[in-house]
Amino acid sequence: MTAVNLLDFDLDGLAAFCERLGEKRFRAVQLMRWIHQRGESEFERMSDLAKAFRAKLAGAAEVRALPVISEHRSADGTVKWLFDVGAGNAIETVFIPEDDRGTLCVSSQAGCAVGCRFCSTGHQGFSRNLSTGEILAQLWHAEHSLRRLGVGRSGPDPRVITNVVMMGMGEPLQNYAAVIPALRVMLDDHAYGLSRRRVTVSTSGMVAKIDTLRDECPVALAVSLHAPDDELRNDLVPLNRKDGLAALLRACKRYLERAPRDFITFEYCMLDGVNDSDAHARALLELVSARGPAGRLPCKFNLIPFNPFPQSGLRRSAAPRVQAFAKLLLDGGIVTTVRKTRGDDIDAACGQLAGEVQDRTRVEVRMQRGRERLSTDGKVAAPVRPLAPEGPLA
Ligand code: SAH
Ligand code: SF4
Repeated sequence: MTAVNLLDFDLDGLAAFCERLGEKRFRAVQLMRWIHQRGESEFERMSDLAKAFRAKLAGAAEVRALPVISEHRSADGTVKWLFDVGAGNAIETVFIPEDDRGTLCVSSQAGCAVGCRFCSTGHQGFSRNLSTGEILAQLWHAEHSLRRLGVGRSGPDPRVITNVVMMGMGEPLQNYAAVIPALRVMLDDHAYGLSRRRVTVSTSGMVAKIDTLRDECPVALAVSLHAPDDELRNDLVPLNRKDGLAALLRACKRYLERAPRDFITFEYCMLDGVNDSDAHARALLELVSARGPAGRLPCKFNLIPFNPFPQSGLRRSAAPRVQAFAKLLLDGGIVTTVRKTRGDDIDAACGQLAGEVQDRTRVEVRMQRGRERLSTDGKVAAPVRPLAPEGPLA
């Protein structure tokens, strides 16, 4: 019998599992705290659990981490992990430290089926959905390995990761069933205890699922817009052909009725000569104004300078163009930021996450090398460039 992975469960799932073992539901709270708050994976060390319960757990369950293929640290403190999810697939997770927060960028799928033109994950194609346990294993590993290295934050709160963004590989709303329990664990006070405002789902715009997310687990929402009209968006984000921009904006408006923040973040990848003219900026202002399909839509724009990769045939907009575009939006009354490129030296920037994963032969070679480095317990690979406890993260 394969052991059940306890990382696959939110609190309700864990409680049901305890009941199946003949234990009281409240044991789930203890288990959740040990696993997610303290990073413990050995039942033997969960000292306040009855011996008999620990013995039952040892036979039936495990806390199954993802094997680490590599771990890289950028000069700016960004950390990128490449995890092995089997059958030649790898996913990436990125930690981005800032003065007042620590953000983890998490993957939801191996590959992606949406196929956006400017995204290397999209060019790679779709392999499979990640399980809840594989999504949470990224957070579990990042939080506890950084904590062990002393990448603590000042004050009594030991948490290193204060924000999670589902902006890694994959379209989270195309893996809805696995993403929801993972979000619940991120929010659970017995686990990571993150506020809904600090957990962001980023979507290329799956209208029906935006509504379901609003009803079942509203967290902060980022929508990857990239174009002000259907013709251009159909070309850049093929999924747009299904519902169209007007329906997407109306779903955003409905989302705000229950959202933890009172605005939607629109991500906009700046592509030279494609979507970055003054006319495009003016059309965006019109789209979210009272005259737009959803009426006035409270929103912020986050302009992402395109991170090029050879197969795309696209170029990054020049910095002055990005600034001029941002100014038009700002002058139109929309809060607009330009995303700083982080972790450039380790290919951890947006859309580069799959850079190395794209070429399957290369990834196979890297994974083989990673496996050769696996330590004896088969869980932790020696880092390619080891993390040091000192340095800007500490
Ligand atoms: N699938 C989801 C979340 C993952 S992509 C989505 O599309 O929203 C996270 C963000 O990175 C999206 O806004 C996406 O448009 C952006 N992105 C993808 N490829 C990029 C690239 N090459 N350069 C800059 N941003 C990119
Ligand atoms: Fe998928 Fe998002 Fe990349 Fe589009 S941008 S292909 S939705 S991961």
